[in-house]
Amino acid sequence: MTAVVDAQVTAPVIAPGASVLADARAQLRTATDVLGFDRSVFDMLATPRREVTVSIPLRRDDGTSEVLIGHRVQHNFSRGPAKGGLRYSPDVTLDEVRALAMWMTWKCALLDVPYGGAKGGVRIDPRDHSQAELERVTRRYTSEISPLIGPERDIPAPDIGTDERTMAWMMDTYSVQQGHTVLGVTTGKPISLGGSLGRATATSRGVAHVAFAALADRGIKVDGATAAVQGFGKVGRYAARFLAEAGMKVVSVSDQYGAIADERGLDVPALEAHVDATGSVVGFPGSDELDGAALLELEVDLLVPAAVEGVLNGGNAERVKAKVIVEGANGPTTPEADEVFRRNDILVAPDILANAGGVVVSYFEWVQSSQAFWWSADEVESRLAARMDIAWRDVNAAARRLDLPLRDAATVLAVERVAQAHLLRGLYP
Ligand code: NAD
Repeated sequence: MTAVVDAQVTAPVIAPGASVLADARAQLRTATDVLGFDRSVFDMLATPRREVTVSIPLRRDDGTSEVLIGHRVQHNFSRGPAKGGLRYSPDVTLDEVRALAMWMTWKCALLDVPYGGAKGGVRIDPRDHSQAELERVTRRYTSEISPLIGPERDIPAPDIGTDERTMAWMMDTYSVQQGHTVLGVTTGKPISLGGSLGRATATSRGVAHVAFAALADRGIKVDGATAAVQGFGKVGRYAARFLAEAGMKVVSVSDQYGAIADERGLDVPALEAHVDATGSVVGFPGSDELDGAALLELEVDLLVPAAVEGVLNGGNAERVKAKVIVEGANGPTTPEADEVFRRNDILVAPDILANAGGVVVSYFEWVQSSQAFWWSADEVESRLAARMDIAWRDVNAAARRLDLPLRDAATVLAVERVAQAHLLRGLYP
């Protein structure tokens, strides 16, 4: 372990280009202003409780070695253990992980799951590494951060570039160090290893759930409505599937290699088979090729960004023609774009609400692991739907009461809950 920083003492400095963290802090500032909180509350909530940066020496399959950098940021513990995904991407930065950890705190509070927020990241392009190399990276990273994680401390889950395999390796490494199997240390595990039924599709189910409610809010019938989905990974793929199953025409999808379109609506099951066979949506028979950026500007009823941060920004917001945007990704919309969408009357269902299905079912997985008692898929799905419904209604009621867009209303609700927990617990010492 190279450094452990108690960020209560050493406040992180915003590095140049750290726009995602600046965006997350701007959203927090709006919420604390609406709530009338003073500067000290903002400072406390803008600052992660604990951060660790580790170096990960990796022996490559060809015998050479290299050193990777990994982070784990625990933003808040006031409502329970920290919780958040682990990202493998060449673009990972500490500031990005800080922003994502903060959003996790708001998401958990908004959905009323008893967690704080965390996030992890390793700067690596998983496409350039074999499974054996990824296993070694995961085990070394887990070993380095193991003093900080655990079912009562911090519970990682999959995010960009990681999956149930990664969570199995993490759980195994941690368990070997503890000397006994600790299923509750990660969520998003394989079903045969204490994973929950419904976890793999939970984020996308929640996205679809919120999308249907948002379309209804705008008086748009789901059956026959058009949708574009950016990103065809763990979130985008199943989101596209559930939208199509509900009768929507998914007219365009993309991944990091390119975008495709078919105005009659893509055959999503056939597209999934194509992606399984080729690794990309590009080249799907019968579809037209499209520029990835153009997907975001299509005239559709629903746009689901489900890839990376900052894709809807000051540069393209005025050209976005979707009626409703439901954020599958974390942080896809910058505050500048939010302002444009508000002016242009585009309804934005924010990430901390729209993609919260994943953490809700992660919570169910953690509960099942700790009780060693497993629920049926129907139980998981109906409990998820009930929680998403409540959160959607709470956020809409707050938006009306406070005359705010949904993002600000959602952040206000979440920040209020976290601040209240801080207040009730008091400041130690
Ligand atoms: P993933 O790695 O499974 O998939 C990411 C997808 O985005 C891939 O298809 C990739 O090709 C594509 N992509 C990357 N850059 C792109 C670009 N510039 N344009 C178009 N496509 C691009 O990751 P994921 O788990 O699906 O996560 C996607 C987003 O959803 C992230 O913001 C993540 O934080 C968020 N999220 C994920 C979960 C979850 O349960 N996995 C939960 C909540 C939020």
